Amino acid sequence: MAELGDPSSSYSCRNCQNPIAFRSDLLSKNYKAKSGPAFMFSHAFNIIVGQKQDRELLTGMYTVAGIYCSNCGQELGWKYVKAYEVIQKFKEGKFIIERAKIAKEY
Ligand SMILES: [Zn+2]
Repeated sequence: MAELGDPSSSYSCRNCQNPIAFRSDLLSKNYKAKSGPAFMFSHAFNIIVGQKQDRELLTGMYTVAGIYCSNCGQELGWKYVKAYEVIQKFKEGKFIIERAKIAKEY
């Protein structure tokens, strides 16, 4: 694990403990998903990115792709592939992961 980055803490799939994101890549806790609070990460790993689809969200139109645990297949959230609104461009390439789907590891 240590060679991948910050070994002090990470987030893993709540279902199977597959590590999926580092604490150091956490950008924001102020997102919302269907199940409740969601986190934005700059990077995630051990995930499968699903098919792209256009989706109208509260803040505008996006192309998003569902993301899934590479081990157990649980849906974790989504990746922003493209933002149509200029002020939302910073979200492109970022990952939104539902808090209910992950557990913090130390
Ligand atoms: Zn899993």
